[in-house]
Amino acid sequence: MQIQLDRLQHSVLTLAQIGATPEGGVSRLALSDADKEGRDLLVRWMRATGLEVTIDTMGNIFGRRHGTDQDAAILLIGSHIDSVKEGGKFDGALGVLSALEVVRTLNDQQRQTRHPIEVVAFTNEEGVRFPPAMLASGVMAGHFTLDYAYSRTDTQGKRFGEELARIGYRGSRPCTPRHFHAYIEMHVEQGPVLITEGYPIGVVEGVLGISWSTITILGERDHAGPTPMAMRHDALVAAAQIVLAVRNLATTFGGDMVTTVGTLDVEPNMINVIPGRVVLSVNIRDWYDEKIRQALTMLKEEAARIAKTEGVHIEVDNYWHIAPTHFSPEIVAAVERSCQKRGCQYRKIVSGAGHDANYLNHVTRTGMIFVPSIGGKSHCPEENTAWEDIEKGANVLLQTVLDLAEA
Ligand SMILES: [Zn+2]
Repeated sequence: MQIQLDRLQHSVLTLAQIGATPEGGVSRLALSDADKEGRDLLVRWMRATGLEVTIDTMGNIFGRRHGTDQDAAILLIGSHIDSVKEGGKFDGALGVLSALEVVRTLNDQQRQTRHPIEVVAFTNEEGVRFPPAMLASGVMAGHFTLDYAYSRTDTQGKRFGEELARIGYRGSRPCTPRHFHAYIEMHVEQGPVLITEGYPIGVVEGVLGISWSTITILGERDHAGPTPMAMRHDALVAAAQIVLAVRNLATTFGGDMVTTVGTLDVEPNMINVIPGRVVLSVNIRDWYDEKIRQALTMLKEEAARIAKTEGVHIEVDNYWHIAPTHFSPEIVAAVERSCQKRGCQYRKIVSGAGHDANYLNHVTRTGMIFVPSIGGKSHCPEENTAWEDIEKGANVLLQTVLDLAEA
C-alpha cells in the first residue's frame, strides 16, 4: 500500500496558496483570515474524505475515521497549519496533509482498522501572534488553562478567545485528553542534519531540554581615553569571555548539546566610554537534563573566574528550564520498524525545536517522523523538502498507522 504523491503534492501546494507571500512562502498566522480560509479548506477536504469533523474549545480540528471497534483508543495523526510570519509551505501543513493522505489511501484500498484514526490540526502551534507557542496542545495537556489561553493578546490587543470565535472555530468539545492510542506527527526537520548526512527519514526520539539564563555584568563606566588599560573594569571584555565560555560548554560536553548567546545589551554603548554594564542571554539545550545542569554549574564557575580576573561583578539568573521530552520507546520502535519494512534509510534524531508532540507526550504515547529540510532552512520562504523524501515520509507514516491502528 502506497500513498499517492501527486495527490499529497496537490494538497500541499493548494493550501500553500492561502496566505502565500511573493517570495514563495506563507504567512498564515493563527486565527487570522488566512488561517480561517486554510481551516475551511482542510475541513472541506476532511469531509470529502468521509471524516467526521469536530472542533474543540481551543479550535483544534479533528477528522475521525471510524474503526471496527468503536471502543478502541484513538490513533491521532497530524500537526498544525498556522505559520510564522513569512514562513514556509511545509512546517506543520505537511504533517496534517500527510495524515489526510494516509486516510485517503486507506479509503482507496478500503482498508479498515480496529482503532479509530483521527487527523488533527492543532491551533496556534507557532505562537507568533499569540505567545506562547504550542498553546492549544498545552491546554490539552493541562499545562495551560483555557482562561489563560483565551486571554492571550496579540500586538494590537486582540484576544485569543475572541479571535477564535470571530473566525468561527471556537468549538464545543472540551480540549482535554480523550482515550488516545498514540500520537504520531510527521514534520520537516527544520535543521541540517538529515540533508547533510543524506538520510530521507529521521526517527525522532524526543526534543531537547532547554535552559534560559540572563547574565548581568557590572563593571565601571569610564572615559575611553584617560583610563589606562590596567585600571579598567570593562564589562564588555568580561562579556566577550562569557560568550566564548558558553560556546565552549557545547564543545566540552559534546553529544547533542547546543549553546547560544543570542542577545547582548551594552551600556552605555558609546564609542568613547568603557562599557559599565552588559546583559546577555544564555540558551543551553541538551538531550539529558543532568548535562544541562552540569553545564550551568560550569558556566557559573567560569563566570566567577572571569569576574575575578576582570574586576567586575557577574550575576547568573537561570529563569526558565524545561526538561527534555523523551518520546515513547514503543512508538519510536514502531516508526523504526516502518522504515525497515519500507526499505527506507533512516537515522535516529532528536529535535532541537519544540512541537505539539512535546505536550502530547504527556497525554499519550507519542512519536515523530522527520523529513529533510533542504539547506536546513525553515521559518522562511526558502523552506523546502524534496518530494521524493516527502513520499517516503508519508509512506512511513502510513506503515506506522497500519501497524498501530490494526493491533
Ligand atoms: Zn511546526
